[in-house]
Amino acid sequence: MLCVGGITMETSLKDRDKVGVQDTVLLENYTDENVFVDNLRKRFKEDLIYVSNYCNFNYTDENVFVDNLRKRFKEDLIYTYIGPVLISVNPYRELNIYTKEHVKEYANKHFFETSPHIYAVTDTAYRSLKEEYLDQCILISGESGAGKTEASKKILQYIAEVTEHKGKVEKVKEKLLQSNPVLEAFGNAKTNRNDNSSRFGKYMDIEFNFEGNPIGGDILNYLLEKSRVISQESGERNFHIFYQLLAGETESELNELMLKRDTSSYYYLNHDSKSSIDPTSDQKGWNEVKKALDVIDFTSEEQKNIFKIIASILHMGNIGFVEEEGLSQINNLDPVEKVCKLLECDIEQLKHALTNRTIEARQDVCVTPLNREMAVYARDALSKAIYDRLFTWLVLRLNSSLKSEDTRKNNVMGILDIYGFEVFGKNTFEQLCINFCNEKLQQLFIELTLKSEQEEYLKEGIEWQHIEYFDNKVICDLIEERHKGIIALMDEECLRPGDPNDSTLLAKMNRNLAHHKHYLSHPMADIQTQKIMGRNEFRLLHYAGPVTYNINTFIEKNNDLLFRDLRETMSTSHNSIVKELFPPQEQESKKRPDTAITQFKNSLNNLMSILMNKHPSYVRCIKPNDTKSPAVFDEELVRHQVKYLGLMENLRVRRAGFAYRRVYEQFLHRYKCLSRETWPNYPGSAKDGVQALVACLGYERDDYRMGRTKIFIRFPKTLFDTEDAFQEK
Ligand code: ADP
Ligand code: MG
Repeated sequence: MLCVGGITMETSLKDRDKVGVQDTVLLENYTDENVFVDNLRKRFKEDLIYVSNYCNFNYTDENVFVDNLRKRFKEDLIYTYIGPVLISVNPYRELNIYTKEHVKEYANKHFFETSPHIYAVTDTAYRSLKEEYLDQCILISGESGAGKTEASKKILQYIAEVTEHKGKVEKVKEKLLQSNPVLEAFGNAKTNRNDNSSRFGKYMDIEFNFEGNPIGGDILNYLLEKSRVISQESGERNFHIFYQLLAGETESELNELMLKRDTSSYYYLNHDSKSSIDPTSDQKGWNEVKKALDVIDFTSEEQKNIFKIIASILHMGNIGFVEEEGLSQINNLDPVEKVCKLLECDIEQLKHALTNRTIEARQDVCVTPLNREMAVYARDALSKAIYDRLFTWLVLRLNSSLKSEDTRKNNVMGILDIYGFEVFGKNTFEQLCINFCNEKLQQLFIELTLKSEQEEYLKEGIEWQHIEYFDNKVICDLIEERHKGIIALMDEECLRPGDPNDSTLLAKMNRNLAHHKHYLSHPMADIQTQKIMGRNEFRLLHYAGPVTYNINTFIEKNNDLLFRDLRETMSTSHNSIVKELFPPQEQESKKRPDTAITQFKNSLNNLMSILMNKHPSYVRCIKPNDTKSPAVFDEELVRHQVKYLGLMENLRVRRAGFAYRRVYEQFLHRYKCLSRETWPNYPGSAKDGVQALVACLGYERDDYRMGRTKIFIRFPKTLFDTEDAFQEK
């Protein structure tokens, strides 16, 4: 496709000459863009030209790369490819590129023949699933606000559009689509980076039957940022659902929940004016959640119980304590009474549990009263635990509603929308978890693309110049290696008798890790980077850049302790959901649960093995500016993201390589009809047959390579052209 002066038109080679000097020239998937671009460059100014697939570009220079993205962004062309990898730049405004007509435009087209789009990536994955029966996963990455969640919705929307529109399939699709508003209400919040920021990681499998229609789904959730339940940074908000409930619920229902509409009545909700958003959007959000809960078959009883829990958390935050001679006392019974009414638990038991702690050591049971600070800690830990468990319960409940009735092993398409790399002014335990997750995903990306790509050329005996890339395994090991890594040291310290605290943990890490190339302790950091670092900080040199972490609260967050008295109180609740959240087995178990980061590590490793066995597609989201503006392209900011997403390395490997490959037998079977020599059967080996076929198709020496078992084609468009031409005949 060639676009002249903003108008897109199909073009033949002849049309090139018609391009005038004043025209903007945009190339969409031109087979031989290189030649074309070079010719044009001679005739026109350099900056008139930009490309849709970097593999067709003669340059591997970062500046040119970023500049190309900028030019496309200015033309609302937010999508660009590196080979099959989709780069998506957040437009920060609604573009008219997601209509049903656009879906049609991409359905059943060859990837290399349409302009870059999230639909093209989805269609390619979908067809591979349907035609080759390969499980798929689409991995979406990028920093907060870059457009990951929106991309995941477009994928789902595309699938919903191109599959059957009736009966059970339609019902399943509606549930899949409606799971989003529910998860977003409970798991998203306004942050300073994104008004609708996902505060949890999400992996969703869509299950397809043999006809390629969705018949079920399954969601895995990762590490909800539960600290947000009890406090938020200036300018940010708690999870949407709290505000939606207050703004949208009817007067009489609110009365029943003993809530006031005014958010300023609740200690857990931020009150600075910067945090507010348009109140009508909360009402709208509320209506959407209620509708979604109905579609997903939540009973009215369940819905009532969910909102009783949400209300009880708001009341819980209003419980205050006073201290007398080191002992805390609840100073306002009103909110405690409300919590107990809503959660249907015993008020004396809750009061006691909020101000005392029972510890069982060997045979002895010992009750210690809590001071004010500890009582506040206990109250907040309870609120966080209830919310966090409610969220997981919601996911499981969604899953039971999405579960397919088919017990066969069907193909699935997974969509991963998980937090991007984070560097804040102050980075703590949560950032370490999130950045660790990104290291693991980068590792997977390397395994699945860079490394495996190069290994395949070697294995197939194709001459190949090795491309250098940074393998971040060394950082993954620094964090997760058994007995030696940061996680092991953290867990060891958490379990150590005596008085483990944040500074003893930091001292231990410094002692054990100071020699590591990617770990910097306080004095070392000053020498090496000249940047001042506090005594309670350490720095990790992540693949995406250095991050300084503050050790405060690491031990507390990793222990993630909810006092036994509070757990027991909750397990006696008559609210049927709360009862499920605090099952009796947990109270009886003597075994210490895994620490927070170990649980996270295990769930990540589980995710990696799920993804490893699927055919991956990549969507790399880029945020053009920090101000949510549709007009600004901040080159520095983009350059940084290009760097840490590893896009230049990706491009170098891709450019040197071959976009298409297929085992000789399959290739011959599929394309033998294109030549008299190979049709209907070739008498010799499959490899010889393929050789005869490509000779007949007029492939040049540099267009392809013959490996041991496969043919590799640099850019397959001509092949598909011939095939289509043949089919038309
Ligand atoms: P992330 O999940 O990466 O943090 P989101 O997907 O929530 O980011 O995107 C943040 C905001 O950017 C969205 O709320 C929306 O306003 C805007 N946005 C993202 N992608 C698109 C898109 N393709 N078209 C229009 N707006 C978008
Ligand atoms: Mg998101």
